[in-house]
Amino acid sequence: MVDENLDDLMVYPRSRTEECDTTYFLARAGGEKVLVVEGEGSGLEGSLVGDRLVCPLSPANAATLRQRLPWLRPQPLGLDPSVGFGDRLGLATPGHIRAARQSGGVSPIFAQQSMRENDRTGRTPQQVLDDAMWAVFQEGWRAPWGADADHLKTTRDIDICVAAGYTFYTVDPGDHVDNEAHTASAAVLAEKFAALPWARLDDTPEAMRQRYLDREFEVEDLVLSYDEISLARAAAKYGAALAHAGLMFRHLAAAMGSRAYEFEVSVDETATPTSPLEHHFVASELRRLGVRWVSLAPRYVGRFEKGVDYIGDLSQLDAELAQHAAIARALGPYKLSIHSGSDKFSVYPLFARRAGKLVHLKTAGTSYLEALRAIARVDPGFFREILELARARYEVDRATYHVSAELEKVPAADELADEALASVLDQFDGREVLHVTFGSVLDRYGDRLLEVLDAHEEEYYAGLEAHFQKHLAPFV
Ligand code: ZN
Repeated sequence: MVDENLDDLMVYPRSRTEECDTTYFLARAGGEKVLVVEGEGSGLEGSLVGDRLVCPLSPANAATLRQRLPWLRPQPLGLDPSVGFGDRLGLATPGHIRAARQSGGVSPIFAQQSMRENDRTGRTPQQVLDDAMWAVFQEGWRAPWGADADHLKTTRDIDICVAAGYTFYTVDPGDHVDNEAHTASAAVLAEKFAALPWARLDDTPEAMRQRYLDREFEVEDLVLSYDEISLARAAAKYGAALAHAGLMFRHLAAAMGSRAYEFEVSVDETATPTSPLEHHFVASELRRLGVRWVSLAPRYVGRFEKGVDYIGDLSQLDAELAQHAAIARALGPYKLSIHSGSDKFSVYPLFARRAGKLVHLKTAGTSYLEALRAIARVDPGFFREILELARARYEVDRATYHVSAELEKVPAADELADEALASVLDQFDGREVLHVTFGSVLDRYGDRLLEVLDAHEEEYYAGLEAHFQKHLAPFV
């Protein structure tokens, strides 16, 4: 893409923008990306080179440019089918944009990071958003795009992301889900039910029983009903989480004031699956609590491990998805959100068939794995070092993930010829081992990784574009 020589600058041609008699473009000068302005440069920090202002990609310049070029601001995407392109390294978004442009028909979220991922990568929510914005500028993307503050757990998380300008807020009350309720006895459930935070739920046990027992809920052609046990189980499992989600929503609404935003509730990172009846309970109670949300992530049956295909019974998932989707249409409409959605190629058609356009797909890890694929191609020696570190770290680093890869099935670097290195990324165990060790790899090799990718950005973008078209195709 960097093909237009302009003095000593390599210009990114798609970034060229004329606005109010001023020309803006992104260029590479001496290995660094810079913003070049011809015309009105006030408010931007930089140095004059001839009659051009050459500006660093600083947070202050990002803020000023966003004010001038409104399409660089993220915005809510509503009920359009959407895809979150998490980018841990901050270099992948141009590839994501090219895939989104090729596929058409899905609304993109180009900035998407959880606080946990930010801790691991040493980036701030503002940096994540700014990196995505510079890529939007680089690639000349003018259509709406969103920014997802993912897996927020505290009101402080919300405040940080509101200040950074996020538009999509994923609240994760999973720490407040009581997984023991999934299998607890009737006596234990009765105790848990009585002990729910009723005041914070603005509710009483009697009122809840009256709302749910001795009646039927017609949801399209589904008929749902609760008995004492199933109501107590749903309430015990999700009650405290609902109270927390309500608190987070009210905090967000107050912090955003008149600014537009959208809200997602996710309980995907919990130990036990969300049954359709529990989904109905959660959505009904969120409505009663005044929460408005655009998407919801139940914990689906089966296993959504990182960076690999779905593990589980597809026909059971399909049957439950039909019910989840009916509930999402009837109690919203809102989108079904697919977390850990990278590389779940066998389930995309099921979601597309059952939920239609009411789908939000979140990906992240797969863009890191594509970065490693680019490195295997352009710097095999470096990929060998990364693979060996990953193999050494896997048994420790896997602790905070749900993964089932076996280390013995991942070839050692010295067993592979250069041309075969990338094949580790086509194999289940290799993908998981490389995926969950990304924090260790960044700790040891972060700067070098970024340098190699930056120097070979076109190879990286091309790999991402091809890989993501496979993710997007089922939804367009
Ligand atoms: Zn998630």
